[in-house]
Amino acid sequence: MLHGKVALITGSTSGIGLATAHVLAEQGVDLVLHGLLEQTQGEELAQQFAEKYQINTYFSNADLRMSSEISAFMQAAQEALGGIDILINNAGIQHTETVVDFPENKWNDIIAINLSSAFHTSQQALVHMQSKRWGRIINIASVHGLVASLNKSAYCAAKHGIVGLTKVIALENAELNITANTICPGWVDTPLIKQQITDIAEQNSLTFEQASYQLVTAKQPLPEMLAPRKIGEFVLFLCSDAASGITGASLPMDGGWTAQ
Ligand code: NAD
Repeated sequence: MLHGKVALITGSTSGIGLATAHVLAEQGVDLVLHGLLEQTQGEELAQQFAEKYQINTYFSNADLRMSSEISAFMQAAQEALGGIDILINNAGIQHTETVVDFPENKWNDIIAINLSSAFHTSQQALVHMQSKRWGRIINIASVHGLVASLNKSAYCAAKHGIVGLTKVIALENAELNITANTICPGWVDTPLIKQQITDIAEQNSLTFEQASYQLVTAKQPLPEMLAPRKIGEFVLFLCSDAASGITGASLPMDGGWTAQ
């Protein structure tokens, strides 16, 4: 059903984005891969996807902190593969510190990458989706788009923001067969959370595995991290016809975290 559609996944060189790229490629979806890899490494990755799945691919390492780079990236990607049918705003970074000590540059980077980039990519992708009267925008938020945790001011602000942005996109496009939803994962086993685990291990003289268990079980009833591929499979469902009535939703995939 999705064969030949074009998906753009920001931050698809690692973690959830990369796993989602594999899930969509298995369905014959052409892919715009993106992330902070050297251009040659990124092009190799794109080539591997093209050969393995017999799909068309394109790679960009545009820095999402800069709207001018996003604009050029979106234009080049659409020229290379055609208009974007499925947009997955996934790239994100983290920094943990109290509000009082939070560095301004980290605040600005997190808001730019985790929130504003989704506004810029959506603005450009929606033009094609509206002309085709079909589209899927799936934003990878977090439980932190729904609830807060200590020391995550910028991350929570950005993730709550993307939940709101997604609802507005859903309302503006509901009659055009374009859905927009956020997935709100709990802990997922990716490089993004390694620093937090390392900090807990150092502060409490624990092994990495012990610290990881402590981090996960502090808030999440399911005592394990999700595999990134599970997020990709949820993305695939949201792209399906069965999910055409789901729009403007913020969907927890959080092992019961926000049920408490
Ligand atoms: P990751 O660190 O494995 O991947 C992050 C991706 O973003 C990489 O491809 C990286 O190159 C890209 N990126 C980072 N800074 C960038 C920049 N300035 N410009 C362009 N690209 C940039 O992380 P992940 O865990 O796979 O995270 C993916 C998304 O999932 C993020 O939005 C994150 O907030 C969200 N999330 C993760 C978890 C978790 O537990 N891992 C939980 C909830 C939500």
